[in-house]
Amino acid sequence: MSPHLTRSQERILKLLDASDRALSAQDLYLELRQRKQGMGLATVYRALDGLKLAGSIQVRTLASGESLYSSSHEDRHHLTCLHCGNSIELDQCPVHQLETQLRQQHQFKIYYHTLEFFGICTDCQAAGIQVPQG
Ligand SMILES: [Zn+2]
Ligand SMILES: [Zn+2]
Repeated sequence: MSPHLTRSQERILKLLDASDRALSAQDLYLELRQRKQGMGLATVYRALDGLKLAGSIQVRTLASGESLYSSSHEDRHHLTCLHCGNSIELDQCPVHQLETQLRQQHQFKIYYHTLEFFGICTDCQAAGIQVPQG
């Protein structure tokens, strides 16, 4: 682990590593408070910003505009239902090959990528939610 991390960043990173799902800044704020490691929400955001720039975490933005953070060694993609908000995790990365290719082509140091599919899940379709044709 990088020695340049602040204490807040270390705590947040540890929490994200231990979590089996991506967490919002608000989730992190509440979880840290529960562990008696409370810090202000602004500090949480600042720490997340630093971790993001260092490539230590990755950010996924939901349809609602909320950002979810996770440790960056995860390469996960989802099908997200716009109606109920449920996410189905894909069991493999559809663009893994592409990332390698882009890295070589552009000599770009890629930390991570996001890829997400939005639509209506089978439950919502069964419940009669209108789905556009095609
Ligand atoms: Zn749904
Ligand atoms: Zn991927």
